Parts: sequence; C-alpha cells; structure tokens
Amino acid sequence: MDHSHSHALFARAQALIPGGVNSPVRAFKSVGGEPFFAARAQGAYLYDVDGNRYVDYVGSWGPMIAGHAHPQVLAAVEKTMHDGLSFGVPNALEVTMAETITRLVPSCEMVRMVNSGTEATLSAIRVARGATGRSRIVKFEGCYHGHGDSFLVKAGSGVMTLGLPNSPGVPSALADLTLTLPYNDFDAATRLFDEVGGEIAGVIVEPIVGNANCILPRAGYLQHLRELCTQHRALLIFDEVMTGFRVAPGGAQQLYGVTPDLSTFGKIIGGGMPVGAYGGRRDLMAQVAPSGPIYQAGTLSGNPVAMAAGLATLELIQAPGFHADLERRTHALCDGLEAAAREAGIAFTTTRAPGMFGLYFREAPVETFEDAKASDAARFNRFFHAMLERGVYLAPSAFEAGFVSSAHGEAEIAATLAAAREAFAAVRA
Ligand code: PMP
Repeated sequence: MDHSHSHALFARAQALIPGGVNSPVRAFKSVGGEPFFAARAQGAYLYDVDGNRYVDYVGSWGPMIAGHAHPQVLAAVEKTMHDGLSFGVPNALEVTMAETITRLVPSCEMVRMVNSGTEATLSAIRVARGATGRSRIVKFEGCYHGHGDSFLVKAGSGVMTLGLPNSPGVPSALADLTLTLPYNDFDAATRLFDEVGGEIAGVIVEPIVGNANCILPRAGYLQHLRELCTQHRALLIFDEVMTGFRVAPGGAQQLYGVTPDLSTFGKIIGGGMPVGAYGGRRDLMAQVAPSGPIYQAGTLSGNPVAMAAGLATLELIQAPGFHADLERRTHALCDGLEAAAREAGIAFTTTRAPGMFGLYFREAPVETFEDAKASDAARFNRFFHAMLERGVYLAPSAFEAGFVSSAHGEAEIAATLAAAREAFAAVRA
C-alpha cells in the first residue's frame, strides 16, 4: 500500500500540532507506524489521501452508527446549513433534540446540550457535587470520561494506551477527590461505600467499559452500584457517551434495566458533528443555570447543524429491528474472528454488545480490567497492521472498543474475515 501522501501530511502536522494529531490515539503511538489521513468516507469505508480503502471499525470512534455520509444525515445537514450556521438564540431543533433524548432515555427527564463528551461528564459531576453538597467522586480503573481534571485518574483510552494514568497539570488537591475502584468487583464497591459513602457526591461509570477494550458488566453489578448509591444518597452517573443509542435505543441503562440519576451522551447524538449532552432527574437538572445556581454554558451548544445531523442519526436508529440487526452483525464478525483464530491456533477471544466489541489475544474470557491488560498487546499491534495492510481499519490500540455500523453488510464482514484469516497466520510466528 502506498502511504506517501499521508506520510507527507504527517510530517507537516508533526511540526505544528502536538504529535501531529488533534487527539492522541489517532497518532498510532501504541500500535506503531504512522496514521493515514482520511480523504473521505462512505458507508462502512474510509478512503485515505493515497486512494487506499479500508473497512472501518472505528466509525469516528462511535458516531457513525449508520455508516459514513449517510444520505439522510447529509440531507438534514445541507437543508439546515442554508439557514445559517449558528444563531446564539434558541432554535427549534434543540427542542426536538431534547424531546427525542428524553423519550428514548426515560431516566433523562431534562437534558442540556453541550459540545463534547468531555463537557458532558464534567458538567454532570458538577451537578452531582452541587446537588449533594459533597466533593468526592468515584470512577473505575480503565474507564475514560474525557479529559476533565477529575477524570484523569487511572483513566482508560489514550491515557492508558500512552501509559499516562495520571496527567501532569491536574492539581493533586482535585485528583485526591477522585476515588477509583476496580470495575466488576462487588466487594470493593461495598467496602468503599462503608468507609466514605457519606462523602461521595456521585459514582460515574461506563456501564459497558469501551475505553479499556470492551468489558461487559457482570450480572447484577450495575444494580449493585445503583443500590449502594441509593443507600448512601450518592448519585449514579452512567457515562453513555459510547453506549448511548448504540447498544439499545435507550442505551446500556435500557439493556441492563438499571436507572441512573444522571447520564452523559456524545458521539451518536451528533451524527459526526461535535455534540454532547447530559441529563437526568428533573429535580437535579432544574438546579442548572439559569433555572438554578449550578453554572454551565456554551456559545455553540445546541448548534443547529449539529442538532440536524444528530436528529437524522437518531431517526435512523429508531427503525424497527435496527439494534437486533446491529447485534447480529456484531456476532457474525466476532464469531468469525474467533473461528479464524482457532483455525490458526492463536489464543484469542472477543467480548461484544450490540454494535461494539473487544478483541483480545488471550484464551480466557475477559471480565475485568486486569483480564483486559493480560491480553497480548504486542500481538494485537502486529495483527492491527496485518489487517490494515489488507484494507481493514481496527481501533489503533489494544485498549479501545471497535464499532460496527448498520452499513457493515455481509460483504464487508466476509472481506474482514478473509483478511483476518491471513492476518492471524501472519501473527502466529
Ligand atoms: N466518555 C466516554 C465513555 C468516551 O468514550 C469518551 C470519548 N471516547 C468521552 C467520554 C469523551 O468524549 P469527547 O472525546 O467527545 O470529549
């Protein structure tokens, strides 16, 4: 594969942009090599500036659940943009968006739009602290909630990929207020609440951890967190930036039947435009300015073009059978990969939820962050490149979930499995 145009762009980028990228994981640091630069994308495919085509299992890290450049999403954006790009006064699409989110996710009785997942999570913990009058928050090792100061403590995603579990620049006075727990460990959560339950404003969790590869909750675990929070009057915050509208129309909270007090969203609700949202119980959200004293604002929040792209995407995911179909595709991919690895004699396993999956080079099932870390990351890195050379783009880190979209049809999955059979053979040595 020729990558000369990407290589030249990366050289120019590195001179002026830290690491040559505007978000760390894009730099291919952990898998090695250089990133390719996108020229365009369509359906399940990304095309780079050298004319190479890839089946894309990253999907812009989650938003492109209906495939890239979906005609309905593009039409909505085009129609809206002719009326102006930003108004700074309310617009009707914001109301439709609030109505759509609160209808699909009943625990969100009120919702506020922001511009990224990071903004959503840092606003949600401000509400948790403001509403409870408590300062401590609890997060889980390997979970990533964006780059807000309080979250860069034992975080997942690029933070972990780059081996920077705690970031310089975060004052210890603030980081000390973030307590961490091992995900899926019932007793550790109980013990922490026994010790300091009365000081905890909120527990924030990725209900399915998509930033430490892809770890599913053990049966009853999210319910356990719900009960601890209720008992100690702490707020339960589900960070559904990744899982929201993906694993079910109402997100992981619908899939597992557990109701959080607050939820955060991003990715899919923007359809590829920069959008986030946080919402929850009316009595909590009513405390946000200007109806209450907890301050949060945004010049571009509720941007009409972003709302149009998000609403068109949310329309698509409400088609009957959308998520069952996504789940079938995800299983076909993961079952096929496991079979190909078995044929090649490679220790390999997968985890999956509708539309998202984890790949692990180890035999035993993965249920905890420790399990995920025990996967052979060096072998993953070789597999990643072997797949890329064969036109399949996986997340460029052993610690990121992959995403399947409704545009990943039988042909794309068959091509992926054909590439995987060769790639597994290539990494066997
Ligand atoms: N929460 C979760 C669960 C995420 O996966 C991410 C981003 N991958 C974020 C928050 C942060 O979102 P953003 O990158 O839009 O700030």
